[in-house]
Amino acid sequence: MIKDQLREVEEKISAACQRAGRNREDVTLIAVSKTKPVETLKEAYDLGIRVFGENKVQELTQKYEVLPKDIHWHMIGHLQTNKVKYIIDKVDLIHSVDSLKLAQTVEKEAAKHGLVKDILIEVNVAEEESKFGLRMEEVIPFLEQISGFSHVRVRGLMTIAPFVENAEENRSIFADLHKLSVDIEKKNIDNVNVSILSMGMTNDYEVAIEEGATMVRVGTGIFGARNYAV
Ligand SMILES: *Cc1c(COP(=O)(O)O)cnc(C)c1O
Repeated sequence: MIKDQLREVEEKISAACQRAGRNREDVTLIAVSKTKPVETLKEAYDLGIRVFGENKVQELTQKYEVLPKDIHWHMIGHLQTNKVKYIIDKVDLIHSVDSLKLAQTVEKEAAKHGLVKDILIEVNVAEEESKFGLRMEEVIPFLEQISGFSHVRVRGLMTIAPFVENAEENRSIFADLHKLSVDIEKKNIDNVNVSILSMGMTNDYEVAIEEGATMVRVGTGIFGARNYAV
């Protein structure tokens, strides 16, 4: 079942890349495996998936312990500062840095391990009350504040677009994040590179790719609906 769904997602990613005149290699598929049991992740692993996204620290570390070590784990959910220490040496990329306090904590914990941790800045492009992330106009001042950090490396921006019936409704959100990344590049801020754009989920990843996404975070489209009741 995962096999067929994965193939369908792959086909849609390739088609979107083609429509946008982009290379398939420029878009990384992150399999969002939150709530799914390790057996299911192993199934995806056996089909070639090596990048998994999780949104809870405890769930990520539990899966990390038992699954193969060549998996790249991405923290995509809201991260509390007191939990950074549990994942700092386990994740390749933190997508959800949204405050100075969190960036400082990542800096401190990464230093303890002698690491330079790659991060994305979460941006609440649509300014939804219910969502985390900096507002668009806060991003450049924030980057200037953290550009002196030596154990944190900014690699790009992330957004969670609103839930909409028609993915086209989110096109301008993705275009706005892309535009912000271009503006940031022009500023040439030390230690800041924003070549990664993490945007697009099951309902809208094709539109996101057309607007420049370099990482798409797909859960339901690969693994089916999540059951939060269990
Ligand atoms: C759950 C989640 C996703 C995946 O959502 P789907 O709609 O199942 O593809 C992507 N990004 C984040 C931050 C998530 O929490």
